[in-house]
Amino acid sequence: MTEFKPPLNDMSFLLTKVFDVASLWESIPQLKETVDIDTAEAILEEAGKLASGLIAPLNRSGDEEGAQWHDGVVTTPAGFKEAYQTFAEGGWSGLGGDPAYGGMGMPKMLGVLFDEMMYAANSSFALYPTLTSGACLALNAHGSEALKQKYLPSLYSGRWASSMCLTESHSGTDLGLIRTKAIPNGDDSYLISGTKIFITGGDQDLNENIIHLVLAKLPDAAPGARGISLFLVPKINVENDQLTTANNVSCGSIEHKMGIKASATCVMNFDESVGYLVGEVGKGLACMFTMMNYERLSIGIQGIGCGEMAYQGAAEYAKDRLQSRGVGALKDPSKPADPIVVHGDVRRMLLTMRANNEASRAFALYIAKQLDITKFSEDTQAVAKASGLVALLTPVAKAFFTDLGLESTVLGQQVYGGHGYIREWGMEQLVRDVRIAQIYEGTNGIQALDLIGRKVAMNQGKDFELFSQEIREFVSDFNGSELASNTRLAPMFTQLTASIEQLEQLTQLILSRAGDGNELNGNAVDYLNAFGYSAFAFMWCMMAVAAVKEQQHDDNCLYENKLVVAEFFFARILPRQQAHIGAIQSGVSSLMALPNEMF
Ligand SMILES: Cc1cc2nc3c(=O)[nH]c(=O)nc-3n(C[C@H](O)[C@H](O)[C@H](O)COP(=O)(O)OP(=O)(O)OC[C@H]3O[C@@H](n4cnc5c(N)ncnc54)[C@H](O)[C@@H]3O)c2cc1C
Repeated sequence: MTEFKPPLNDMSFLLTKVFDVASLWESIPQLKETVDIDTAEAILEEAGKLASGLIAPLNRSGDEEGAQWHDGVVTTPAGFKEAYQTFAEGGWSGLGGDPAYGGMGMPKMLGVLFDEMMYAANSSFALYPTLTSGACLALNAHGSEALKQKYLPSLYSGRWASSMCLTESHSGTDLGLIRTKAIPNGDDSYLISGTKIFITGGDQDLNENIIHLVLAKLPDAAPGARGISLFLVPKINVENDQLTTANNVSCGSIEHKMGIKASATCVMNFDESVGYLVGEVGKGLACMFTMMNYERLSIGIQGIGCGEMAYQGAAEYAKDRLQSRGVGALKDPSKPADPIVVHGDVRRMLLTMRANNEASRAFALYIAKQLDITKFSEDTQAVAKASGLVALLTPVAKAFFTDLGLESTVLGQQVYGGHGYIREWGMEQLVRDVRIAQIYEGTNGIQALDLIGRKVAMNQGKDFELFSQEIREFVSDFNGSELASNTRLAPMFTQLTASIEQLEQLTQLILSRAGDGNELNGNAVDYLNAFGYSAFAFMWCMMAVAAVKEQQHDDNCLYENKLVVAEFFFARILPRQQAHIGAIQSGVSSLMALPNEMF
């Protein structure tokens, strides 16, 4: 089985040469005080050691053993508890947390790279602390000062963990249907009763306490989503930082599932458990969205991490496995056959994985940059623009990265031939582990609806214009620069320009048909994909420009490799966008023609 090698060189290229974080961080006072590029690279190096040395070795055994439930008690696989202890002692739980409550205050641009390494090493393990980080964000944004002081320090230190309790058996996508009740308790608390299902880390043995964020409705709540409020419900009550009595929160069972077997997916029962309101009554879904948006990007990154791990395994295997003869100069007569990496079809698979993984990583950093601007910048105009971009791009990241993440893991498995189907090599586990990322945190279909409906149609394409304008300015800067005549870059920019023009026209078409709900619903996934490929073309042009600039004074092969992969992306992957555009142009009448009962 391939050992995980943290892609630190690629990460450093993106941070320093593509996004020039040194200048960005220098320009924002709060970040200037917190982080510089040396600190950032040292943190990533340590994170890489943690991921590859401690967390990755538990991936296979965790999958074999799985999380267990006996008599209401959940246990994680052997080694998880000790590894989590080291993780918490290293301060990793509070990496991006608010320093006022004990967090490290590091930028999201480091957080996304850290998350990627954790998911690549072990998706199940990564999920436990990820949920806690998202809950902290929601609590910090919407909780009262008293709640923040009481809970945030122990969450940031890793002493306690969190869960996100939304889903009920009859209410998944449509959370307006939830039945969990919150009854005012005569003081500042509420009594929460109901059953939540599919709760990741709802119970586990890594932490002494679990702080649940629970969606529930007051007795007089408005119908639907407007009636939902958010409550903090500890597993064990807390007084003066000490654990006191059990809070009637129990785990009824855990699910037996296709992948992420070491992550406990719990049925959680709340039986008049004491809870505290977070944010305002009836604004629970909006507050929860702070957590869900964080988690959506994070789950997108699960797609990148699994895709990266699949690529590393497949590339190593393809250079080693001898089958059939290559063509012409690729033949090595000293061997009985050639390594499969010489074959065009194997190269297609490897390059597809690599081009999509690297573009995803760049795009995750691009979104993280916008998140950092919204959080740290004092420039109100920049903050407004970055907020619009985050809202627009988060569903794209979640769905596109995870769809491509699954594609990468399946391609990786395919490179191994029959051996990819066998447990021993670890490739089938990656396929199983990444598959859930297309489903939870809102299915990818729902992400696409969020993009086309709420983020594009409902604001008449204003946030979309922010993005397309930024690409147009980037292209215009390039055209006015001395690199415009570069024979490798110029064709890429021509294709990027055509791609964004087509996406603009497509967006206008969508806006013109927005009155018909079926047009939005039936075209959403194709629109998200067409959008994603334009965004990736933007990322590949950014990376290619940085590579050409570096090549002028540095012969590191990383830069030439970037250009070769960029050329592959434009030649072989960007054309996929045309299929999605064509599907949308043809309308949805063929989708809606078959009567329901004929399915
Ligand atoms: C392993 C695992 C871990 C999870 N972790 C958590 C967790 O920690 N916390 C939590 O609260 N939940 C969690 N979930 C629940 C998860 O978020 C939901 O399963 C998911 O949001 C989909 O809801 P559902 O399963 O009820 O599907 P449904 O809502 O029933 O959807 C079924 C299908 O219909 C489609 N659909 C629904 N409505 C529409 C529409 N209007 N237009 C078009 N298509 C539509 C969906 O896209 C989907 O394909 C987890 C689930 C799993 C399996």
